[in-house]
Amino acid sequence: MYLDGSRDAPGTERVRSSLVLPIGIIVAVAFVCVIVAAVGSARRADEVAIKQERQLFVTGVRNHADRILREVKSIITLDHAVERIAANPDLQWIAARVDGLRATFFHYDFVFVVDGDDRLLFPSGYPGLDPIALRFNLASALEVLRGAGRRSSASFHVLSAAVHATAKGRAQATLLQIFAGRPALVAAVAIAQDTDAAAREAPAIIAVRFIDDEVLADLASRLQLHNLRLLTGGQAPENDYVYEIAGGEGRTISRFAWTPQKPGARIVASVFPFITIAFFGFLLLAAFVLRHMRGTARTIASTEKRLRHLAMHDPLCGLPNRIYFSERLERMIREVQNGGATAAVFYIDLDHFKDVNDILGHPVGDELIGAVAMRLSRVMRESDVVARLGGDEFAVIRTIASGAATLQGVADRIISALCTPYALADQSIIIGASVGIAAIGPHAAAADVMRHADMALYRAKNEGRNRACIYDAAMDADLVQRKLLQDDLRQAIADDGLRVEYQPVVSPSGTKMTGVEALARWLHPVHGEIPPAEFIPIAEHCGLIIDLGAWVLRRALTDGMAWPGLTVAVNVSPMQFRRADFAEVIERTLAEIGFDPARLELEVTESTLIGSVDNAEAAMLRLKALGVTLALDDFGTGYSSLQYLRRFPFDRLKIDHSFVRSIENATEAAAIVHAVVSLGRGLGMKVTAEGVETAEQQLFLRAAGVHSMQGYRFGRPTLADAITERIASRHDLASEVYIAAG
Ligand code: C2E
Ligand code: MG
Ligand code: MG
Repeated sequence: MYLDGSRDAPGTERVRSSLVLPIGIIVAVAFVCVIVAAVGSARRADEVAIKQERQLFVTGVRNHADRILREVKSIITLDHAVERIAANPDLQWIAARVDGLRATFFHYDFVFVVDGDDRLLFPSGYPGLDPIALRFNLASALEVLRGAGRRSSASFHVLSAAVHATAKGRAQATLLQIFAGRPALVAAVAIAQDTDAAAREAPAIIAVRFIDDEVLADLASRLQLHNLRLLTGGQAPENDYVYEIAGGEGRTISRFAWTPQKPGARIVASVFPFITIAFFGFLLLAAFVLRHMRGTARTIASTEKRLRHLAMHDPLCGLPNRIYFSERLERMIREVQNGGATAAVFYIDLDHFKDVNDILGHPVGDELIGAVAMRLSRVMRESDVVARLGGDEFAVIRTIASGAATLQGVADRIISALCTPYALADQSIIIGASVGIAAIGPHAAAADVMRHADMALYRAKNEGRNRACIYDAAMDADLVQRKLLQDDLRQAIADDGLRVEYQPVVSPSGTKMTGVEALARWLHPVHGEIPPAEFIPIAEHCGLIIDLGAWVLRRALTDGMAWPGLTVAVNVSPMQFRRADFAEVIERTLAEIGFDPARLELEVTESTLIGSVDNAEAAMLRLKALGVTLALDDFGTGYSSLQYLRRFPFDRLKIDHSFVRSIENATEAAAIVHAVVSLGRGLGMKVTAEGVETAEQQLFLRAAGVHSMQGYRFGRPTLADAITERIASRHDLASEVYIAAG
């Protein structure tokens, strides 16, 4: 019945998915970038480190060879070495020196001395070394030393060479070559005076040092190369770095391997914890942001829901409002059109709600609306739509069989629920309810359904309220008829098509006519006589009552000029009374016609006093000041409020004929009449009884003490001439019991 809570925040999911994805992507991209950067710089650091290690290694090997060279050269610097080796070889001296050299710190594997023609002077041979192979192996170093050989060859790699002897040094060379099948460092020095020519043809000392574990261990410890070794064959492990020393033509002479330092891994290892912390930090932040967003989305969704509820519901009673009702009506019509169950609209209007508001105040009125909403909701099914359309109008949409009895049954339940007295503001309040019912047909449009329900409601109110009417096609005709009557009435007022009849008001004895009441009459050219009970409400509804009232007043006063002793009573509609210029119009008309204000009595009903009472009170006081008298008409049918009687300056009370009629049958009616008469008298008012038809009624009322009477017993409303005639004949004074002539 209340707004469907089913429309639960689709926004939450939407917000979540629309934010999670981009945030996730941003975080992921950021992390991939950080990781790529870290790994990239680690790799770069590894590359730089390997490059450095490689250079170190090359330099280390060269330095090692240079050290050998320096050792060898130290022989030559010895006393007369050149003479003892070159000029006149002293083999004994050579053997002693060279062997001494071999035994030194460097532990050369071989030391050879050759003459200027590259013939081996010392030693004559090494056990296990084939002299031809030996020659071949020595050839590389000698070729480089003499400057005759190629600077590089497939079988050796020149580490350093100074072919041209200078003042600072001798011709010398260091090589890395395969010597006797093993990689070796070879250092060769020319034993000569420091001249070019001598260097080329001079004897030479050649020292050979195999690159064995000892050499490698020495290099490794100097260069801080881990696991440095010679690769003789096969593959090195994946993590090790392999460095090849190649001779000319790119042929590999030897391959070295070591485990590089890889600082990149250390960089990564040192950065990794921070990246991990940052990653989890981001995750945490993302989770926090998501949670926050979800909370915000939920708040937005619930605010949205609340706003929608406010927009769709009546703030006073919480029921759906007209907007929501219209939506549901459209939906229901579609369902009916698609073959769904038949349904109907019940249009409910509270009777006298405005009076409660005016008399008891708006807070009580608001409370009453809340109570009505509650009762209405209770009496309807959960599946029905119960709405407040505004003011004192409610409506219900209900799926229901279209039979009249069923529809009436529901409406009766509504009426009886709403008419049960309400206990509000320490009072028991009774209101009524009228219901207009319109079935939702398969060809209906929402506007038509509401128009039909409205017409049915109008009919229910017109038929006396507190009842329900079901719309039928004849009501459309009625509406058309009413519209036509309205136009005709406007015309009749303009063309003097109305007339006024006067009903005598007589003394309690019925013998003396004390006044007349002017009553409007309309003879319609087509429909014949239309009673005021029908055309006065139409005139009030469309505002014609102002012109009509002015017309009747003018007519009655004009006619009344002929009856100097009589009071002329004119009925005044609440609409006339509420106009600011009302008293002024009366005063002007009186003056224009020259009518004695003291003979004019204005009859108002209690509804005149509801609402803008201050205006009404001011108008009444002004009229009283003129001398006009005021009568409260139909007393007993409205609120019969003592408050009104005390506050407003009425001169007369007119007891409604419904009481008079009931005098004989209902004892309480008689009691009421008695009470009203005493009340009026007590407040210094005159009391008139209306609708007196029988002698018994007259007797009773006379005994009760009314001041005057009115009714068919004393004369029906009649034309002015007839009144004039009656006065002239003084007929009313003739007999004690007057029997109506007309
Ligand atoms: P009302 O002012 O209470 O007028 C008295 C009504 O009671 C008149 O009905 C009158 O014909 C009727 N009546 C009088 N004696 C008897 C009786 O013995 N038995 C019965 N059954 N009825 C009796 P009417 O003329 O049909 O007027 C009805 C109402 O229309 C009036 O009630 C008055 O409220 C309103 N009305 C009539 N003329 C005017 C008018 O010029 N201006 C305004 N504002 N209202 C008018
Ligand atoms: Mg009247
Ligand atoms: Mg009356």
